Amino acid sequence: MRIHHLNCGTDCPLGGALFDGRSIAPLGKLVCHCLLIETDAHGLVLVDTGYGLRDVAHPHAGPTPRITRLWRLMLNIRLREAETAVRQVEALGFRAADVRHIVVTHLDFDHAGGLEDFPGATVHVMQREYDDATGPHAGIVARNRWRRSQLDDVRQWRGYGATGEPWFGFDAVRDLAGLPPEILFVPLPGHSWGHAGVAVQRKDGGWLLHAGDAYFYRGEMRQARRHCTPGLRAYQRLMEVDATHRLQNQERLRRLSLDHRAEVSIACAHDPVELERCQAGHPL
Ligand SMILES: [Zn+2]
Repeated sequence: MRIHHLNCGTDCPLGGALFDGRSIAPLGKLVCHCLLIETDAHGLVLVDTGYGLRDVAHPHAGPTPRITRLWRLMLNIRLREAETAVRQVEALGFRAADVRHIVVTHLDFDHAGGLEDFPGATVHVMQREYDDATGPHAGIVARNRWRRSQLDDVRQWRGYGATGEPWFGFDAVRDLAGLPPEILFVPLPGHSWGHAGVAVQRKDGGWLLHAGDAYFYRGEMRQARRHCTPGLRAYQRLMEVDATHRLQNQERLRRLSLDHRAEVSIACAHDPVELERCQAGHPL
């Protein structure tokens, strides 16, 4: 399986290095790190989708905008057609119809925006995330994060429960319908209750874990003591449904990143340095 690392959305929050830990300018840069996997017999598989064509064309139109102005302003979201997953799939020489499966870590607006650009794909999601995203929303964060308008036209959903076989001490959900056994869910609740990482086994036997929003900053992994910028600490707190689960799962991931460094690479959705290292083929 060949894995491409794509940036399917850019946010430039005011605060610069207070968010991304490296910008000299007042605006920072966060990415939406998605995976495009070329499988041997199951077509193309996307992990997360970032922002989609309809987000770029009319993000705020209608009574239920795809992206709310409040979150657009807070993150200073840049919407670029060339960054959408479908345009990048095409730029690699494929067609949208070649994407047969999309596995989503969760359904926040910055992960689910491109789902409808692949009408032939089955979308795999934890059932709890689907229920929370499409059910009634209480509170300002819930009303802003999950956008029904981004989900309405998805034709094929597959939902999964959170129990399964162990994977490096985590529960894992295997046997995703129509997908090879090298792709599995690793439930990591806390950011949302139905949030999950997606683990992909490479040909050499090693694993890549797309950890979604289980952490946001490269300094939160691969070192014993957690380091995170103040802006991303605050954003993670704002978006969490449960601090205890979030921090416990993040600690378990940190231990995994140290204890199994040779076997498992871990990348989150929004850190630009991790994305650059993955794209360059460098170790994380
Ligand atoms: Zn996110």
